[in-house]
Amino acid sequence: MLAVLKEKAAPGVTLKQVPIPKPQKDEVLVKVIYASICGTDIGIYDWIPWAASHIKPPTIIGHEIVGKVIEINSDKKTDIQVGDLVSSETHIFCLNCYQCMIKNYHICENMNLFGIGRNGGFAQYATIPLKTTWKNDPSIPVEFMSAQEPLGNAVHCVTKAGVKNKKVLIMGLGPVGLCAGAVSKAMGAKEVVGINDEPYRRQIAEKMGFDRILSKLDEKEYSTFDVVLEMSGNRLGIDIAFEAVRIGGKFVAFGIPKENVSIDWGKHMINKELTILSVFGRRLWETWKQTSKLLKSKKIDLSPLITHKFKLKDFEKAMTLMKSRKCGKILLEP
Ligand SMILES: [Zn+2]
Ligand SMILES: [Zn+2]
Repeated sequence: MLAVLKEKAAPGVTLKQVPIPKPQKDEVLVKVIYASICGTDIGIYDWIPWAASHIKPPTIIGHEIVGKVIEINSDKKTDIQVGDLVSSETHIFCLNCYQCMIKNYHICENMNLFGIGRNGGFAQYATIPLKTTWKNDPSIPVEFMSAQEPLGNAVHCVTKAGVKNKKVLIMGLGPVGLCAGAVSKAMGAKEVVGINDEPYRRQIAEKMGFDRILSKLDEKEYSTFDVVLEMSGNRLGIDIAFEAVRIGGKFVAFGIPKENVSIDWGKHMINKELTILSVFGRRLWETWKQTSKLLKSKKIDLSPLITHKFKLKDFEKAMTLMKSRKCGKILLEP
């Protein structure tokens, strides 16, 4: 089968034919229908220090997928059957640590990552641990199914903050930021404002129901937002996000900066008496259930977000477009 591999501990990827994997104990084998490219995959491609410390080449990359179950290698009780359309949760939990014991599986202390710490889904076939396999509702468009990963991040952020009747700012309009706007509207936010310097992303935001989309926040709006979702991971973005949140407001930290960021601790962390919430991943399986419900009820329409489809063999072209940011989610078709 064709697969996209991180073959060497260096920038770039290799496309090559590899054997179809055999599902290990308590794994399922799926025929991949779509895989979507995540911002994390850019870091993996470019071999940033985070990627270098998490990947041991050779590894098949790609973690946002939907596929059809071909084989199940398990005697465990499961509602997953051959022929089901499934997606993968990226955070592979251990079931033994303290966080797993208290059902915080998504922040497991011994977490492995699909398509990062083990082979993933930029390939014609993939194996997924049964415990991180999500059975999709077949009434949801199959094009949306691989994007439940970023949409799930948005759902987790928005539900953790609580946005009903609130004025919400979303700093950074990557796929998760774009989804967060749509989710905030679906969950009854009074006003949703998005900020991004890339016009292409602002156009998508408009289609996804943001009330206002700006390239820059006017100082007049500083300290006026009840909830701020920081999704840029950018030093300047983080600073403006702290300026934007009102006294006593909620600040959700989600975007991961590439380097250390310094902030004005007194001004930003103390004086406004903020509630600061950090979010990593999706709750299992509460977030997936909420996400599925939003898609099934059509309260969220991901079609403006899914802007491009490429054949897997054209991965390099897709990655170039991805890096230009003149796209939403890019689907790969193996
Ligand atoms: Zn992702
Ligand atoms: Zn664990």
